Amino acid sequence: MRNAEVAALLYSISELLELKGENTFKVRAYARAARAIEGMLEDIEEVAARGGLKEIPGVGESIARKIEEYLATGKVGYYEELLKQVPAELHELMKIPGIGHKTALVLNQKLGVRTIDELERAAKQHRIRRLPGFGAKKEENILKAIERYRQRSTRIPLGTALPLARRIVEVLKSSDVIDRIEPAGSLRRRKETVGDIDILATSKDAKAAIEAFVHLPVVKNVLGKGTTKATIVTRDAIQIDLRILEDKSFGTSLQYFTGSKEHNIKLRDIARMKGFKLSEYDIEEVGTGRKIYCMTDDEVYIRLGLLPIPPEIREDTGEIEAALSGKLPELVELKDLKGDFHVHTDWSEGTNSLEEMVEAAKKLGYEYIAITDHSKSLGVAHGLSEERLLEQIDRIHRLNDKLSDFHIFTGTEVDIRADASIDFPDSILRQCDAVVAALHVGQKQTRREITGRLITAMENEHVDIIAHPTGRIIGEREGYDVDMDALLDTAARTGTVLEINAYPSRLDLNDTNSRKAKSKGVKLTVDTDAHSTEQLGLMEFGMNVARRGWLEKNDLVNTRSARDVRFKG
Ligand SMILES: [Zn+2]
Ligand SMILES: [Zn+2]
Repeated sequence: MRNAEVAALLYSISELLELKGENTFKVRAYARAARAIEGMLEDIEEVAARGGLKEIPGVGESIARKIEEYLATGKVGYYEELLKQVPAELHELMKIPGIGHKTALVLNQKLGVRTIDELERAAKQHRIRRLPGFGAKKEENILKAIERYRQRSTRIPLGTALPLARRIVEVLKSSDVIDRIEPAGSLRRRKETVGDIDILATSKDAKAAIEAFVHLPVVKNVLGKGTTKATIVTRDAIQIDLRILEDKSFGTSLQYFTGSKEHNIKLRDIARMKGFKLSEYDIEEVGTGRKIYCMTDDEVYIRLGLLPIPPEIREDTGEIEAALSGKLPELVELKDLKGDFHVHTDWSEGTNSLEEMVEAAKKLGYEYIAITDHSKSLGVAHGLSEERLLEQIDRIHRLNDKLSDFHIFTGTEVDIRADASIDFPDSILRQCDAVVAALHVGQKQTRREITGRLITAMENEHVDIIAHPTGRIIGEREGYDVDMDALLDTAARTGTVLEINAYPSRLDLNDTNSRKAKSKGVKLTVDTDAHSTEQLGLMEFGMNVARRGWLEKNDLVNTRSARDVRFKG
């Protein structure tokens, strides 16, 4: 899958255009296309092959041609030309989030820095704060951004890793030299980012299995190749290990390689207390030396006298104790979901029509969706004016009359403005079933201001849901500075639902905050924020977070039937 590669290229083009001072519309178009491709589940090469590139949000004729050129030749002439036009010494500096063209230029001209290492040194020597218009705060921010940038380059978002792992598993499975095969590690625990991908398999012909693996089309380099293990690096610079195991050890090995490390340490202690020695190969009865082999990793837990623990919560945060005392949560599942409360259409910046989104939601087996296009102040997203929203509501009412077994809730993703006011008056909000409020502007305000804005919004009797409550973008920016306890307490007090945004680069709230929300009695909803029919399928990524947050069916409001859905006002 080359989606990440293509997205990176489009991001670079967008940055170079910005650097050149090209019009913002063009700059944004490339960034938007890059973001869409990053979040796409389908392989970009397959999309191109069926002539579907222009269905991707942000991709028009000209971007589509460049993607095709890249897929065919590995190069894009336009990009090479752009690269020649901008001073090379700024390229690297601009990779740091928050350092744009102008800042890079000043840093380069006044301090002579051209690499990230040099920039870091200058910041640590406090040479940046002395530049006009910079100051200590900005210098600190640059250091933080460098740190984040370095972390980003080593962690892979689950949204990239999971589809890739599945594809590899699928291909290897079809190659008749593999019997059982399963990805393990943090990917199996569905962490929001993973360091690399570990795949376990069994085979009657280990050598042939290893050969099949190192010759997969995604492979760029083979880092190591033995008789039962190989390590490769893909063209997207993702490291993948394949281990061929003995059939009888599969269950204990899968348990061992799924982790987490902390979970395994505690589990081995429990085993010891019960008179067993647990290893990746087997469970050994101390004293008799009798060896117990397990077919599955669930069996490992059962043999040790525990309830089987779902991989998503194997983090040593109380799950082993819960499994010992029979109190494990019954984690919510994708099939429990009945709808999606955060969906965009082409009325604002989505790609598909209202009707198409409804059709796609029906295909997923849902009972309902809420249409929540942006409100007017969000100009970049073609936010709806009051008149347009009322027109949309009218259209939805007429559509509902024709639908059986499916309901469209009217709604809006209304902006919480920088002064804490809501972008639509109550008279308009009252006419929406679902009011999803979100903070898109003024994200750099102080903790007090941000928290105050969110509390004000939640206290509004019409605001039902807070979307992406912390505003973080994985690998790009941390969330805004918000007092999480105050946010959760207010949500509980006002009955406002908090969203787990399923978009793979958001996953916001995250797992720990979701679990905390549950403990305070806050209800949550997992929504896709889909901007196209395809993105309705991203729900799985939000559900991973819900499960990692120990959520059960009753904790999510979108597990309710349409007739049991209640909004605030
Ligand atoms: Zn939003
Ligand atoms: Zn949205």
